[in-house]
Amino acid sequence: MVAELISVGTEILLGNIVNTNAAYLAEKCALLGLSIYYQTVVGDNEKRLEATLRAALERSDVVILCGGLGPTQDDLTKETAARVLGRKLVEDPHSKKVIEEYFKNSPMKKITENNWKQAMVPEGCIVVDNHNGTAPGIIMEADHKTVILLPGPPVELEPMFEHDIFPYLRQKQPEVIHSVMVKLCGVSESAVETQIRDLIDQQSNPTIATYAKIGEVHLRVTAHAADEKEAKRLMKPMLKELKNRFGNQIYTMDEHMTLEESVLDMLRERELTLTTAESLTGGLVAARLTDIPGASDVFRQGFVTYSNRAKRKLLDVKKSTLKDFGAVSEKTAKEMAKNGAFISGSDICISLTGLAGPTAEEDKPVGLVYIACSYNNRITVRECHFKGNRAKIRESAVVGVLTLLRECILEDA
Ligand code: ATP
Ligand code: MG
Repeated sequence: MVAELISVGTEILLGNIVNTNAAYLAEKCALLGLSIYYQTVVGDNEKRLEATLRAALERSDVVILCGGLGPTQDDLTKETAARVLGRKLVEDPHSKKVIEEYFKNSPMKKITENNWKQAMVPEGCIVVDNHNGTAPGIIMEADHKTVILLPGPPVELEPMFEHDIFPYLRQKQPEVIHSVMVKLCGVSESAVETQIRDLIDQQSNPTIATYAKIGEVHLRVTAHAADEKEAKRLMKPMLKELKNRFGNQIYTMDEHMTLEESVLDMLRERELTLTTAESLTGGLVAARLTDIPGASDVFRQGFVTYSNRAKRKLLDVKKSTLKDFGAVSEKTAKEMAKNGAFISGSDICISLTGLAGPTAEEDKPVGLVYIACSYNNRITVRECHFKGNRAKIRESAVVGVLTLLRECILEDA
């Protein structure tokens, strides 16, 4: 079944608000196994909305509109959709009662004449209660097509979708969709694509989609089937093949697991303790690790040594190293990691030093970062050249050092 989204509102068109409803709805439709080929944003203009809806009905089975269901003059989604489907608006006694109740429970708000507009619904429609506002949702079915109208505010739209629209669409599309997110680190998107080009070319059921993240690549493997058991059976060979091809570069197949969580788990399993020695990331690595409950099992200490003085005083980096090679150098990163492990008494210390920009320094370009890992008296250091703005470079460095840490632990096995 093909679904299509129409977001109504001049505010979205002008960029005053971000169209988060479209992202939310598209993701839910994908979960339901509905295909989406078009999404449109249209302003609060009756004629253009009408043309957009007519075009959508030509090519899609389900059209979901959001926004413009409110009580004011510029809210014209319901009126327009009713006209396109040739329906009259009639008063819905249930919605009227709900509106009365809503205002009874909101003493600060006064009911005004235009609020009753929201109790008018297209004849023969399914009215969906709005538990977080006054505009009900509306489902209209006609000639094998379904038109669904949802309120614009996400706090109203999302619970309504979850509670009523999702089950409604699920029963229309009874197939289940099961998907697994395969998460990789330490490999570029283009390398991943090259390695699975044949799988992408041959894909049918399951399908495979790649998502590039900063320093990571995620692969979503999705199967359609009559039930979950069958879907899982269908995806098994594909998952096995990905494991064969990427091995340890896969850090998880759990949608909710993050790289830092997986690294902490690895350390915990091996009863290893960790310390961080950070310069350009200013404690971001430590923050990411300690965001996770239970990090104290393995995380011992975080040094933030931004200045040369701090690198010398806290991490014992040699004055001559800083003078001869500079703070952003392989040698400094090595000393930070080695001394960090020693001073903190940790099994492992990871370090980062680099230039996040925006200005380059002397002969060193923005994005040049050295990351190191000291483990078992062995120090592994890597020179990286990250692209992007300051935030992106720092984020890349965080992911880079966690990836290096993983590799060092795995190599040791
Ligand atoms: P209301 O009763 O509040 O008028 P409505 O259904 O008429 O609701 P709109 O008037 O189109 O919806 O939008 C109301 C508010 O909802 C917007 O100001 C915006 O904050 C939010 N909103 C609307 N559409 C979207 C969207 N596509 N994505 C995210 N937020 C949205
Ligand atoms: Mg409105």
